[in-house]
Amino acid sequence: MPGLIDAHVHVEFSERFPLHDQPELSAAQLRQEMAERALRMLRSGITTARDLGGRNYAALGLRDAIRKGECLGPRLLCAGQPLTVPRGHCHQWGGEAGSLEEALAVVDRQVENRVDWIKVMATGGMRTPGTNVEEAAFSVHDLKEVVARATAKSLAVAAHAHGAQGVVHAVQAGCRTVEHCTWIAKAGQWGCVDASTVEAMARQGIAVAPTAHANWRSKPMGHRNYTRMCSALQQLRAAGIQLLASSDAGAIPGLPHDALHAGIQVLAEMARMTPVEALKAATSASAAVLGLEAECGRLIPRLSADFLVVAGNPTEDLGALGRPALVVVEGRRVEPLAPPPPWPKVARQSRVKKFIYVSAIMANGKNLGDEVTESDVYKNWNNFGSVLEKKLAAEEYIKKSGLDYTIIRPVPMSNDFPRDVGGIYFAKPDSLRLRDSDVGKKISRDDVGLAVLDAIFNPKASRGTFELVGVAGAPPTPRDQWWEVKDGQKA
Ligand SMILES: [Zn+2]
Repeated sequence: MPGLIDAHVHVEFSERFPLHDQPELSAAQLRQEMAERALRMLRSGITTARDLGGRNYAALGLRDAIRKGECLGPRLLCAGQPLTVPRGHCHQWGGEAGSLEEALAVVDRQVENRVDWIKVMATGGMRTPGTNVEEAAFSVHDLKEVVARATAKSLAVAAHAHGAQGVVHAVQAGCRTVEHCTWIAKAGQWGCVDASTVEAMARQGIAVAPTAHANWRSKPMGHRNYTRMCSALQQLRAAGIQLLASSDAGAIPGLPHDALHAGIQVLAEMARMTPVEALKAATSASAAVLGLEAECGRLIPRLSADFLVVAGNPTEDLGALGRPALVVVEGRRVEPLAPPPPWPKVARQSRVKKFIYVSAIMANGKNLGDEVTESDVYKNWNNFGSVLEKKLAAEEYIKKSGLDYTIIRPVPMSNDFPRDVGGIYFAKPDSLRLRDSDVGKKISRDDVGLAVLDAIFNPKASRGTFELVGVAGAPPTPRDQWWEVKDGQKA
């Protein structure tokens, strides 16, 4: 089958850290990390990806290095710095504009830096605190001017839009793709679809990259919004709007860049697509939307030899996408990603004797972490809920590992915001491996979560026994409510 296309990624950023709390790396380190990520993407079967933004045009450097054959990775289309309003979504990346004049200057700067797409933040974003995801960030008039300036340079515009009003503006302005398209309105409610806008999208051939990714399996947006998003996607599909396989990898803590294959299944389930439709959304149809139909996306003569062989029949079972047997990009064969080695084996080889796994400090309570705002959207949005799936998987692994283990879950794990357990503070020095952990220092859930994942999935780096000690403050969960699991049973 043709190689996969991920229509929305951020290759610059690691899933091991929150989007706006990435470690400061030297240019050489960053280049190396990005090259490693690109290779993993390729080895998972992704032969093309559209990068929708970052700092300092780092992704463009990677794009060019891949084009020149200096390193192996997917063909990249890059948007450079997204245009955003002052203090708007991802303003940290340098694309802020306070007026139309400044907005056009940002577009011009992207063109000068040889971007392939223009990205506009048409609403606030969940991962930039203090931004408003419900309101439109730009007027239709200004967005139209931005689209005109981009069009004059033969570039299409991708609009990030969560709020329904932002989607409406992006469509009226003629943006080529709408990213996320969650149709948020009315105090955080997803899927508030505007029927006339859907009609306009279909008429104008505007595609949607819903960034339905692998970790949406655990419904981080909550059951209700998940269901509403499913209806919205089904409505778009019924109207004939092209949905694109898209992960937003790099912006989602806990979501690796090589998990598109699982995200395609999530998209298919949510939008009720047939396997063939879902495959097109990740290959030929995506290539057409991205302007690459004469280059890749299909297995026909004269197009780039980008393809993968999978174990199974993906037109019947999309799960086969997770079993690449051969990956070829531009005629070059690359080693497909092997399934991860059995975790207990790795742990034993690393002489891990006992795991004490503190599982629940990442529980989905509201007001946890440091990204809380007064907005209902944030209260109802569990930023790091995507980690929940990994957490549950980790517990399962531990139970089946044959290793001595203790699992501590101070509060129930669920998506239903069980209770407010407040902030998390260190109780012990150096208890959070590799991270600054002075006693009494407040830490974020994601730091804890990522350290746990590190210990679980990269046990070689740990020193035999991994003990994580963080205590919940304000107010702590009473100890008598903690419980352990031994031999698969609650002890
Ligand atoms: Zn993104």
